[in-house]
Amino acid sequence: MKITGIEPREVVINIKCDGCGESTRKEQTFEYATLSAAWGYNSKHDSECYEIQLCEICFYSVLGHIKELYRVNTLFKED
Ligand SMILES: [Zn+2]
Repeated sequence: MKITGIEPREVVINIKCDGCGESTRKEQTFEYATLSAAWGYNSKHDSECYEIQLCEICFYSVLGHIKELYRVNTLFKED
């Protein structure tokens, strides 16, 4: 016997970019990247956790910063 009923449940209705605040909704879905960190005992930020969502534009902006950071940090290294 099936007993049915209406049960309220929590659903994601929007995902906003943590970089610009714009919605990541594209038609019936969301397009976004997630950057996460969970720092452990041996880190300076022990037990801190982060999870941010980025739209496509902000993701590639962050990616550009990371590439530039890598370039600067490895500029004078000898390999
Ligand atoms: Zn954004």
